[in-house]
Amino acid sequence: MNKKSSTPSLLVIGSVAFDDIETPFGKSKKTLGGSATYISLAASYFTKPGLVAVVGEDFKQQHCEILQNRKVDLMGLEMAKGKTFAWGGKYHFDLNTRETLFTHLNVFENFSPELSPAHRNTPYAFLGNTHPAQQIRIISQLKNPKFVGLDTMNYWIEKTPKELGQVLKMVDALVINDSEARELSKEHNLLKAAKKISGLMHQSRKRLLIIKRGEYGLLLFQGGKIFHLPGFPLEDVVDPTGAGDSFAGGFMGHLSAKSDFSWDSFKKACVAGSAMASFCVQDFGTQTLQNLSRTKISQRIQGFRHLTRF
Ligand code: AMP
Repeated sequence: MNKKSSTPSLLVIGSVAFDDIETPFGKSKKTLGGSATYISLAASYFTKPGLVAVVGEDFKQQHCEILQNRKVDLMGLEMAKGKTFAWGGKYHFDLNTRETLFTHLNVFENFSPELSPAHRNTPYAFLGNTHPAQQIRIISQLKNPKFVGLDTMNYWIEKTPKELGQVLKMVDALVINDSEARELSKEHNLLKAAKKISGLMHQSRKRLLIIKRGEYGLLLFQGGKIFHLPGFPLEDVVDPTGAGDSFAGGFMGHLSAKSDFSWDSFKKACVAGSAMASFCVQDFGTQTLQNLSRTKISQRIQGFRHLTRF
């Protein structure tokens, strides 16, 4: 694996995977995926991401090149003995719900990265969905970060509530979907859920909560403020895998490029993230994210502007 040293602006920690995906429109096998892959590729159009993840011996140069072509820093990509994390998912007619067919953690099971000195100084970081104790260990290695974002899932909400509570106090933003927000807060109503979840976050941090609602868009909360953004209307949704992670990548990438923590800037970062998610779903795996341009992204952001202005 050819590694090039550099200092990233955004550290992305998560899974790199081989995905088997089935949707009503086709199938793809052993496609490059994983949360860190989608987040890094989406962020690469705004900032310089550094990926921290583990892969197995079946991970080849051609897979590294997909990330290197987008100038993703691979200094933190470790190759371990064994197989790369593999995941299979199936979507039915309603693309908002999916069934997990298999999860083979493989080398990801013992993923416990030791950040390099350069990575410890990265000002922005996003942690993909893993064990909250692992997330705590990683965040603790960061030296005075400006902004840390976090993803989690139902499994950790149910199995490790204590550790999840601890990690929530260490981050500026939580990005979860509506069912996870309901489960975490034990509230059906999303406004009440947001209030409760904000209460679990540290007072001295930014306390942003982003609730993703699939094709219906998202809700952004901070204190008493709310912003609602629809999903971009598309006729050609092919594969929703990675949409949430692409959103996180666009959101964090935009934020790290602007270094502006105003409410207006958070709203714009949400639009950038939603634009990246809308591209992601238009083809299988990371296909569209590999071949975008700033012009296409700006046009889609403009599309959001037309869609929501009245
Ligand atoms: P999303 O559609 O945004 O939820 O992200 C899908 C990606 O998450 C796929 O590429 C999977 O490889 C990856 N993934 C699925 N399950 C897990 C898990 N338990 N831990 C880490 N990554 C996962």
